[in-house]
Amino acid sequence: MVARRLTLLLLAAITLAGTAGAGAQTTGAVSQPGRAVSAAPDGSRSALPAVVAAAHLSVDGPRTRLTFDLTRPVEMRAFALADPYRVIIDLDEVNFHIAPPAGERRGLVKTFRFGLFAPGKSRIVVELTGPAVVERALTIEGGEGRPPRLHLDLVRTDADGFRRALAERAVSNIARRGDRETLGPRLSPRPEEDSGPPVVVIDPGHGGIDPGATAPSTGDEEKMIVLDFAKVLRDKLAAGGRYRVVMTRDRDIFIPLADRVRVAREARAQLFISVHADSISGANENARGVTVYTLSDRASDADSERLAERENKADAIAGLDLSDEPSEIADILIDLTRRETRIYSANFARTLAGEMRQVTRMHRLPLRSAGFQVLRAHDIPSVLVELGFVTSRRDVEMLTSAIWRDRTADSVAKAVDQFFAARNGRAVAPGARR
Ligand code: ZN
Repeated sequence: MVARRLTLLLLAAITLAGTAGAGAQTTGAVSQPGRAVSAAPDGSRSALPAVVAAAHLSVDGPRTRLTFDLTRPVEMRAFALADPYRVIIDLDEVNFHIAPPAGERRGLVKTFRFGLFAPGKSRIVVELTGPAVVERALTIEGGEGRPPRLHLDLVRTDADGFRRALAERAVSNIARRGDRETLGPRLSPRPEEDSGPPVVVIDPGHGGIDPGATAPSTGDEEKMIVLDFAKVLRDKLAAGGRYRVVMTRDRDIFIPLADRVRVAREARAQLFISVHADSISGANENARGVTVYTLSDRASDADSERLAERENKADAIAGLDLSDEPSEIADILIDLTRRETRIYSANFARTLAGEMRQVTRMHRLPLRSAGFQVLRAHDIPSVLVELGFVTSRRDVEMLTSAIWRDRTADSVAKAVDQFFAARNGRAVAPGARR
């Protein structure tokens, strides 16, 4: 199933890349005549991103057109995906000066989201109300008072038509894997093994195109809440040079789940802390407080299982459907390492919950487990902290407060100190971080 979807995705990508490239109106990042283009010292064009200034949606019978006004044309390509039906538009990095659509749902467009996807690349994900083919996807130059625009024309079809459209135009499927190689943040050269302070990786969840949970009361987004927290924690851990701290992201950018794990492995992390904020509706909508999760094959409870499913969807939300399932490894040494790693992870989770409960509100069941993709490094003790619930007005107040952030990051740093002190058979220096 995964392989078939991958193939469809590749076919679609090639098909539509072709469409975008073939139109006479299509323009690349070429300067327009008569328009000033600043040049960088090396003679290349200015790196200032174009701006998306407005979005329009119009419906004409079976045809739905989504238009974005630009300050200059950009390189783009579009491709469709199924399960759920959606169209991905990848383009040069742009700044989106538009508000997220408030319940668009017109014609074939259910809604769309947008954001930075990787360095130099932005992405728009258009969720569809049903199967559709991309009739046109291109950017056109402005003129006569019209700004340059990006057009996406969609026409309704059925599931068979959707599959046929992909298959008909298929020529070859050259893997787009090259793209993925550039997604992760670059790491500074690694120090020699066992030299220097232990490496702690902080992983602020979601980012860029995937905002994570959004507070219904204030609109605060998980991706920013956890990034703010992670930066404070980074500074506390890095102060004094006791740890080398690596962040999987330090700005509002999308990072695939597998790349987050890869960053930790390449940095030879000795501890991985993923930071998230939860949301919940229905019977438990009054839930509040911190929960610390570790990896398990079987979730500790139904809510944890649903949460892991949600968190694991990050790649799909961003339109990326290529997650590498970790291959089943039979090697007994790896198995032993995994068992040991899980014990360390559980120890750290307990220490962490113990420190955090001194300064902030905890969930009724603060220590839980489930199958989080991002905790899957077999040799790195890893935990995922849900700092609170954005569905709780009082939690949001806390989560966005600088005082709370400082106090809570302090408690996490203390837990990290204890973890490494225990690992290295040392007691924590009295007075440290008190
Ligand atoms: Zn999350």
